[in-house]
Amino acid sequence: MKVPLLDLHAQLRPLREEIGRAVAKVIDSVQYIQGPDVAELEAEVAAYSGVEHAVAVSSGTDALLVCLMALGVGPGDRVVTTPYSFFATMGVILRLGAEPVFCDIDPVTFNMDPDQLAGTLARDSDRRIKVILPVHLYGQCAHMAPIMALAEKYNLPVIEDAAQAIGAQYPGMDGHKWVRAGSMGLAGCFSFFPSKNLGGMGDGGMVVSRDSEFAHRVRLLRNHGAEPKYYHSLVGGNFRLDTLQAAILRIKLRHLEDWHAARRANGRYYDQLLSETDLLEQGVLSTPASVYRNAPGQADSEPNYHIFNQYVIRVQKRDELLQHLQAEGIGCEVYYPVALHQQQCLGPDFKIMPMPNSEEAAAQTLALPIYPELKKEMQEYVVRAIAAFYQGT
Ligand SMILES: *Cc1c(COP(=O)(O)O)cnc(C)c1O
Repeated sequence: MKVPLLDLHAQLRPLREEIGRAVAKVIDSVQYIQGPDVAELEAEVAAYSGVEHAVAVSSGTDALLVCLMALGVGPGDRVVTTPYSFFATMGVILRLGAEPVFCDIDPVTFNMDPDQLAGTLARDSDRRIKVILPVHLYGQCAHMAPIMALAEKYNLPVIEDAAQAIGAQYPGMDGHKWVRAGSMGLAGCFSFFPSKNLGGMGDGGMVVSRDSEFAHRVRLLRNHGAEPKYYHSLVGGNFRLDTLQAAILRIKLRHLEDWHAARRANGRYYDQLLSETDLLEQGVLSTPASVYRNAPGQADSEPNYHIFNQYVIRVQKRDELLQHLQAEGIGCEVYYPVALHQQQCLGPDFKIMPMPNSEEAAAQTLALPIYPELKKEMQEYVVRAIAAFYQGT
């Protein structure tokens, strides 16, 4: 049996004709830049995320970059974030000449640990930290209630890196109402990279915000700071999303909730299959998915709405297991093998503080196939292959 990590053909098949018609319509309209589908997609993603404003941009990376630009982040400034994320989270900080400050992750959720954040902010006596940048890794919201409380205490803006988490939900600050990823901080950043839960046919991204002034600034920066055309009050860039991508994403957005539900069902099935093995008792598998689906401090009956962009297990002998699974025809991947604070591009002058939880995660995590169209037999095959590997060791 072959089990790919992601099967975009399976997603494309039922949508192929509808997408073809939408693309043909854009082609014939000749409105390739800022055509009507862009504004329509913005309105739809804003409504979906429960915010008033959305600005479509060229990628998830550019969504993060333009948010930091809108906040005036530059040389001498610091941005506090997690060292366990995709490179873009740190890359945008460095590109603006600012400095990343890392606080370690919660080993259960892989997300920014609010206690570590409290310590980091308390030590920032010269107030060089200008922004808090948490990441909702793998599709599960960071523990935002204490993060937002700290942001308020220190009067700092929060930009959510929700690139992997469009549609993920977190209990509202008022106790009951659920809120969506990207709607809690000053702004949230989505990516439409093809492997994200809402993926385009190329690059794309979105900034969502409840703050009209901030959203307006992002909108200006997206198009060289021009308002009106050829009059530039700010220096921005070309961060626009193509009309073609917007038209494609509008069709896919209508299926997003179903895809989330299918991924969550697959996640639950893996939880069950893994718990039926003796891998937990053997101590080779720790942090089962069933634990990290719940945010810290939440009862089991109140699961955090994890959208499972990735289903990640934590295992001993990770690299050997990865090789074994690949040899069995199973696609799997390490997100991420090197924590950001240990990346070579930081150079010799960067003071590396130990981040033990992130370093351990980098050595132990493994993402298994979780895409919506994945079949039960495939999941059973994956878990059998994992169990067989540890039986043989
Ligand atoms: C994918 C991703 C990004 C970047 O998005 P692109 O659209 O690929 O530029 C940023 N942060 C995280 C956590 C991501 O997973």
